[in-house]
Amino acid sequence: MIPFVNLERQITFLKPQILAAVEAVLDDRSFIQGPRVAQFEKLFAAAHDAPFAVGCSNGTAAISLTLEGLGIGCGDEVILPAHTFAATGAAIRHVGATPVFAEIERETYTIDAADVQRRLTPRTKAIIPVHLYGTPCRLGELSDVIASRPDIVLIEDCAQAHLACYRGRPVGTFGKAASFSFYPGKNLGACGDAGAILTSDEKLANTLRKLRDHGRRDKHLHELVGYNHRMDEIQAAILLVKLPFLASWTARRQAAARYYDIALTARGFKVITPFADTTPVYHLYVVEVANRNEVCAHLSAKGIITGIHYPRPLHCQPAFAALCRDRLPLTEAITERVMSLPICGNISHVEQDEVIAAFLDVARP
Ligand SMILES: *Cc1c(COP(=O)(O)O)cnc(C)c1O
Repeated sequence: MIPFVNLERQITFLKPQILAAVEAVLDDRSFIQGPRVAQFEKLFAAAHDAPFAVGCSNGTAAISLTLEGLGIGCGDEVILPAHTFAATGAAIRHVGATPVFAEIERETYTIDAADVQRRLTPRTKAIIPVHLYGTPCRLGELSDVIASRPDIVLIEDCAQAHLACYRGRPVGTFGKAASFSFYPGKNLGACGDAGAILTSDEKLANTLRKLRDHGRRDKHLHELVGYNHRMDEIQAAILLVKLPFLASWTARRQAAARYYDIALTARGFKVITPFADTTPVYHLYVVEVANRNEVCAHLSAKGIITGIHYPRPLHCQPAFAALCRDRLPLTEAITERVMSLPICGNISHVEQDEVIAAFLDVARP
């Protein structure tokens, strides 16, 4: 049996440290926004060379809080790729703004800057590129697209891209702000829900700190109508245990991806092709196949768990379909073909060999 993400191995390895960290929170009973949340924010910002990190309840709230903190809402348009997890689109709707879906590029499956350009209107207020699968988008081109529009902000969705780099700099530092998720299966995962926002804008950081905590400036002074979108102290304690391992887990994901790449491209399969001068972190290892149902069933029969990210783009989802008039031919074509093979920071070459052999038994490019 080869799980999709081997959390069991990671948790077994870290269990003594995690239990000690949780026990320390029980002992000082600082359950909400105690010193560990602040410490995690400091270290997470430092890991990105970013001035401010604001912890919050999850990656979806990280996006919606940022939009609201920037005053984006009803009547405003926000451009995002249709090929992403539903949360990116939902967060835009949560503040009342209108998602505008853009095409992706074939190499990386990330948002196509030229298509973004075509979808700009006077009402466009933000672009949310998603570094999907951990593969950096063309951030330079996206910045160029909005260079003449100071009213448009770039908000990077980094939920799958912890420590991925664009021109040597970590993603999450290129726009006005960036959202991260620490959902357990993400490259850096809590033992529950958590998220964070990076920004270099101190005023925005202060607004976000209020918005996540009932709009408070202090205990009894509510300056804004806020939310309960705080990060738990126990999750922060666990993230502090895991953060020091992130770089080495990332290096192992990258090595595992290269191992798959060599075997699969030799047989003519299309895999993620990162742009020059970017460093992907392989939250997911995605390969295109012509006979996906057959391949998934064959691997499943051999105890190998695979995934599909994502089988239905947002503009074809019942929740969003009414918002989009256009077809997105490339997006629709590749959502029929992509499948995700097991990958994580501790998959072994023996396991990968097993996956590769089973895959090549039946898969057609
Ligand atoms: C996981 C994910 C989110 C949402 O994060 P949650 O912590 O689950 O709310 C948003 N965008 C993308 C691309 C994701 O993969």
